[in-house]
Amino acid sequence: MSSASGKALKDDGKVLLEVRNLSVRYDVGKAMLGKPRGRIHAVEDASFRINAGETLALVGESGCGKSTIGKSLLGLTRPLRGEVLFEGKRISGLRRTSMKPVRRNLQMIFQDAFASLNPRMRVGDAIGEPLVIHRIERGGSRSMRVQALMDRVGLESAHLRRYPHQLSGGQRQRVCIARAIALNPRLVIADEAVSALDVTIKSKIINLLLDLQREMGLAYLFISHDMAVVERISHRVAVMYLGRIVEIGSRQQVFERPAHEYTRKLLDAVPVPDPKARRPLTHLEMQELPSPLRPPGYEPEPARYEEVAPGHLVAVNGAD
Ligand code: ADP
Ligand code: MG
Repeated sequence: MSSASGKALKDDGKVLLEVRNLSVRYDVGKAMLGKPRGRIHAVEDASFRINAGETLALVGESGCGKSTIGKSLLGLTRPLRGEVLFEGKRISGLRRTSMKPVRRNLQMIFQDAFASLNPRMRVGDAIGEPLVIHRIERGGSRSMRVQALMDRVGLESAHLRRYPHQLSGGQRQRVCIARAIALNPRLVIADEAVSALDVTIKSKIINLLLDLQREMGLAYLFISHDMAVVERISHRVAVMYLGRIVEIGSRQQVFERPAHEYTRKLLDAVPVPDPKARRPLTHLEMQELPSPLRPPGYEPEPARYEEVAPGHLVAVNGAD
């Protein structure tokens, strides 16, 4: 089988997003008018699907290519190869103007909520901005919508006229979530969206994301390096290593029967709260991953997978 997109977990689920054989490379060391010295193979032949209403977690160490996948879905980085289909329609390679209607259904939240917000825009205006851009409602009904969104994400009316610097980190992330859901999207890409938050706030924001999923039928691409968080939030999990998806399956398959050596390594590095259940901690060296820098003409093998259980795929050729 040549890609991870062969089988979805919920066969009854409607496929919302499909990524086929995505490869993204960044040129490095380009001299003026010269050829690049090498290429970073940030994403290499990645394929997966997300069904409506489900959460696919994309997990792996820093530098393995998670954010590059997230950005490629929104057209923020140009893939070398592969395609992205949203609701069956090809969205990769679309121009900015053709992408605009798609963006109503496809939103993103980031780790750094402070950097995502305009420091000079009040909370109410920040949440109303997507409605303005997409010309949805005006005047009184628009402010009612903003108020409803604030309630929905657990912000109070008093926050309406505040600026981002007057809020806590958790409140700022709530503002970003309100902006992301303002247009009733079908899919939200959450890139390390809870990684910078304290334990209690993190848990509250995760609960909020889960509530919103239930109420709105939202799907998430939940990008994270934290296996403990991923275990709480995901329906399916894709594990990345050096630009490759090395394993993909249901949460249960990946956490209970990890089949790739790298997935086991990631799981062993997670502290387990119950001491009796604790595995011997063979700490994953949290040093940087080996660099995916390759010479310009280098062509790695296409990804090949073995299906070890229905919907549970494991890479059979190594990272190269
Ligand atoms: P992750 O989100 O998993 O930490 P990224 O997708 O940010 O990984 O990065 C994947 C690889 O691509 C890393 O080696 C990173 O250094 C490299 N990279 C990311 N963005 C760029 C860029 N704009 N130019 C060159 N290299 C990049
Ligand atoms: Mg990242």
